[in-house]
Amino acid sequence: MATIEIVQIPCLSDNYGYLVHDPESGETACIDTPETQPLLRELDARGWSLTYIWNTHHHYDHAGNNLEIQQKTGCKIIGPAGEADKIPGINTAVDDGDSVSLGKHRAHILNVGGHTLGHIAYHMDTQDAAFVGDALFALGCGRVFEGTMAQMWESLQKLNALPDGTKIYCAHEYTTANAAFAVTIDPDNEALQTRVEQIAALRADNQPTVPTEISLERATNPFLRATDAAVQAHLGMSGAPALDVFSEIRARKDNF
Ligand code: ZN
Ligand code: FE
Repeated sequence: MATIEIVQIPCLSDNYGYLVHDPESGETACIDTPETQPLLRELDARGWSLTYIWNTHHHYDHAGNNLEIQQKTGCKIIGPAGEADKIPGINTAVDDGDSVSLGKHRAHILNVGGHTLGHIAYHMDTQDAAFVGDALFALGCGRVFEGTMAQMWESLQKLNALPDGTKIYCAHEYTTANAAFAVTIDPDNEALQTRVEQIAALRADNQPTVPTEISLERATNPFLRATDAAVQAHLGMSGAPALDVFSEIRARKDNF
């Protein structure tokens, strides 16, 4: 099976759109629709035609341009079953345990609700790639707008369980702000300190910090480290349930 091609496209002020292309079948999927013109321009430049929109959740910067892009390309729209009524133009609703195809490749659907109730991620296991929308960010996670802290924590555990080497394609470049917060939670983490320096160098050079890798997030993302003894001790929560520690970290970030 030929390897898929993934193109990352900056949209709006800090979103990333993605085109996922299977050269064998010629099928192309677009992860979310943050903006119309940059996505259509990229398709045009590469001579690709859009087969699918794969939506992660209903927020406007993810599904707001669905109808315009569908009208212009004739693509089919796949999106989260838990919020299908809020996904413009949806043709197929999917949820945890389902999978969708791109040529002979498959993306497995994970329900990662919490940021929004029905939020899903697309995991292409044979390609070591996961498209996670606003569930997990480099050094951060989505704000818990619609779900509960428990739901969000459980969702992050599903992403945390992805194999080492899985690239995490998140939907925003929030890493500089996330890094400034992360060091207040995990100040003695050397891997985090090294990463913060790398992030500063990348951003100074206008380079993206996304995609990230799940093993790097495991080692440095405070929202995945609620069970870590040093993080718990720093918060004065040694031995506390992971959910309580996660909730404390999320609350601190909301007020950071
Ligand atoms: Zn969102
Ligand atoms: Fe977003």
